[in-house]
Amino acid sequence: MSAQVDLALTAAERERILAHTAKFDPPDATAPDGRRDLVGMSREELAIELAAIGEAPFRVKQLWHWIYHQGVTDFSRMSSIARPLQTKLTERFFIGRPVAARVQTSTDDTRKFLFRFRDGQEAETVYIPDLEEDRGAVCISSQVGCTLSCRFCHTGTQTLVRNLGAPEIVGQFMAARDSYGEWPSDTPRLLSTIVLMGMGEPLYNYANVAKAMKIVMDNEGIGLSRRRITLSTSGVVPMMDRAGAELGVCLAVSLHAVRDDLRDELVPLNRKYPIAELLAACRRYPGASNARRITFEYVMLKGINDSEADARELVRLIAGMPAKVNLIPFNPWPGTTFERSSRAAIDRFSRIVNDAGYASPVRRPRGQDILAACGQLRTDGKRVGAYGNTPAQ
Ligand code: SAH
Ligand code: SF4
Repeated sequence: MSAQVDLALTAAERERILAHTAKFDPPDATAPDGRRDLVGMSREELAIELAAIGEAPFRVKQLWHWIYHQGVTDFSRMSSIARPLQTKLTERFFIGRPVAARVQTSTDDTRKFLFRFRDGQEAETVYIPDLEEDRGAVCISSQVGCTLSCRFCHTGTQTLVRNLGAPEIVGQFMAARDSYGEWPSDTPRLLSTIVLMGMGEPLYNYANVAKAMKIVMDNEGIGLSRRRITLSTSGVVPMMDRAGAELGVCLAVSLHAVRDDLRDELVPLNRKYPIAELLAACRRYPGASNARRITFEYVMLKGINDSEADARELVRLIAGMPAKVNLIPFNPWPGTTFERSSRAAIDRFSRIVNDAGYASPVRRPRGQDILAACGQLRTDGKRVGAYGNTPAQ
């Protein structure tokens, strides 16, 4: 197949995915009282809203500063805005946050938030402090549930309820910052990194995820650099190029198996986008370099994917790619039949990958006592409405 044909197919596939995921759109950003949430609007949308109430474009910059730099949620605290305009803004808009329905802090200081959104749906967000340094990462959810049913993942046992909207995705980060009193945005940050590794498959909710990431990267607001954002995908090949071109964030790929027969079982999406196609997409991911390596995530499942032969095959598959391999000891959850690989098996695997020249850190499970570790997130959200359970996309 020529590269041209390949790319045309990819574009068509991409359109299909975008059309399909639109069915799971989040609710409108307007509250029952008619006021609109300013969080999650692009600068252009904000300008349109302000023009509609007769305000000049320079107000966008002002509001952006208050919302995303200062973290203010109350118009009356916007001291550079005159009182009459504050009142006018309060009548028409609000600066939203998801409600923290539950906050749990682990013995290792990992903190898990159960955020409730305006329609009552919920998603989990986790702050993971760096053990060595005074900062950490916020692990953000992109969907309520997931369509993809990876066998070892707790979220995968919950069908997709809906996509999260840009206000809800940005809102998770902002509410986590509220919890640590981490405003304004230019003081040293604990919450300085975002990993899109919570519930859901971010590339099946691309439009909302992209909009949210553009907001957090905006220099006049939260201002996270794209190097501080990692998007993890189970391998939605047609969307990977687009994410690379438009967002340029760091890429993590959930590989988990080195043979198609096994990956078909563990990550059913592999039947659609098999390993060879996935790795080809990784090889063309823009900006991949030694400074910005692609991360391959590999969950260590006892007796399933943790042999020495698997490690050697992994090295062969990623040969020549600027990559690192994150080994994730399997995190159990109620009802699973998988077991975590032994420490010896993990070390052996890591050594083979490492000896081949790839960093292969073993991820230390964090927040296990509160079910906050990788793959343990899940809410009780159920889909209400017309669509019912969806087949894998
Ligand atoms: N849907 C995306 C991002 C969320 S999952 C993806 O699949 O990449 C974040 C990471 O946790 C993925 O690598 C996922 O495969 C891994 N994971 C899922 N369940 C796990 C479990 N029980 N133990 C360890 N890692 C798990
Ligand atoms: Fe979905 Fe990722 Fe879990 Fe697979 S591992 S079910 S893609 S959240």
